[in-house]
Amino acid sequence: MNMMFDLTGRRALVTGSSQGIGLALARGLAEAGAQVILNGRDRAKLVDAQTQVQGAEILPFDVSDHAASRAAIDDHEAKQGPIEILVNNAGIQHRAPLEEFPAEAFDRLLRTNIGSIFNVGQACARHMIARGRGRIINIASVNALLARTSIAPYTATKGAVANLTKGMATDWARHGLNCNAIAPGYIRTALNEALWSDPAFNDWLQKRTPAGRWGKAEELVGACVFLASDASSFVNGHVLYVDGGVTACL
Ligand code: NDP
Repeated sequence: MNMMFDLTGRRALVTGSSQGIGLALARGLAEAGAQVILNGRDRAKLVDAQTQVQGAEILPFDVSDHAASRAAIDDHEAKQGPIEILVNNAGIQHRAPLEEFPAEAFDRLLRTNIGSIFNVGQACARHMIARGRGRIINIASVNALLARTSIAPYTATKGAVANLTKGMATDWARHGLNCNAIAPGYIRTALNEALWSDPAFNDWLQKRTPAGRWGKAEELVGACVFLASDASSFVNGHVLYVDGGVTACL
């Protein structure tokens, strides 16, 4: 591997890594040499995921809870050592026409998808700032730019993730932190199970988007390793679309 992309000896927390994109990113970071810390709310799922990521530790906590995020990260830093790379990946989806969207689901989306970026980002950044270096990679979405029916609040949270990433870079670059986002296209995971066999969606994906197919979670690993590594030392506040060209056609 080119030394610029080598993560040997770096410790990386990936939130929401018991399955899906987070688990694939955790595996990819571990293959690049990082010591990975897996997170989610379900300890049993994390123990299972741990068997799939070489040398991984687990750190269960709810990223939508500010105090719990802060306590878990401070405790882990004190007992296990520094978290040098943070991938803010945990996220949820809820589908409903906007006029029927439950207020409780709207609130949960905000707390999980954008609250988590603040909660876990701030908790990790305090330690990173004290050390004068750190990497934060937030997982946004093509829905930061692209609206589709019945996911308006999700779209709003992902637009906010992209903008909060720019704000993090603006406040923290001078402290030695690099804060960027990856905006994935459509990746077949549990999050979008409702779309797997939706004929209208699959027709749109095949005929109207450049790659004409679903992406695989592993296809996000290169971007993540790049943004976690020394190869991206002057990249800050950037939103990297990894989407098979979907946003090229807006
Ligand atoms: P999944 O539903 O497959 O996985 C979500 C993960 O997040 C799980 O590990 C889940 O574990 C964890 N999680 C959810 N809520 C919390 C919480 N409050 N605290 C801690 N962990 C939590 O989703 P994906 O892998 O598809 O999505 C990952 C990210 O990628 C999300 O931010 C999503 O918005 C984004 N994304 C996904 C796309 C796709 O096409 N799949 C496209 C663009 C962006 P548990 O429930 O056990 O806590």
